[in-house]
Amino acid sequence: MRASMPIERTLILCKPDAVSRGLVGEIITRIERRGYVIAAMKLLQLAGDAARDHYAEHRGKPFFDDLVNFITSGPIVAVAAEGEGAIEGCRQLMGATNPLAAAPGSIRADFAQTIGRNLIHGSDGATSAERELKLFFDDRDFVSRRHDLERWMRE
Ligand code: UDP
Ligand code: MG
Repeated sequence: MRASMPIERTLILCKPDAVSRGLVGEIITRIERRGYVIAAMKLLQLAGDAARDHYAEHRGKPFFDDLVNFITSGPIVAVAAEGEGAIEGCRQLMGATNPLAAAPGSIRADFAQTIGRNLIHGSDGATSAERELKLFFDDRDFVSRRHDLERWMRE
């Protein structure tokens, strides 16, 4: 039996640039191929208040208003991704916030040019994952993927 990490859930957002550029499938494919499973998913457009809540930690920073304007500018896809170490693993798949600093092979390095249009959000820790998932999903939105996770962990 291999060593295992805790099963975690993390919030992924395919931002408006990802949706308008038709990159939602590419992003979700990379998450699934890593072995994380989709536990909940929806297409929506955020209102300003919801966007300001989601990005509350950045309130007052110089880029805050642009960020809120952008994230509310069009449809986004919210995904709850689940798996062993999924929070840090999805951060790896995303790459660094600035695409120019992102590791080659990461989503932001492969598909994005600028920090303001970096395609994807992913929770940065257990506390933020729990808080952010609640902003997008109710308990009823989640479907159990226990069997898929167990099969993955046996292989
Ligand atoms: N952002 C920006 N300019 C900055 C820093 C951040 O436009 O100087 C945007 C960027 O889209 C980023 C988001 O604000 O994804 C949230 O910033 P954070 O530091 O949380 O980066 P992330 O967790 O998305 O990598
Ligand atoms: Mg962040």
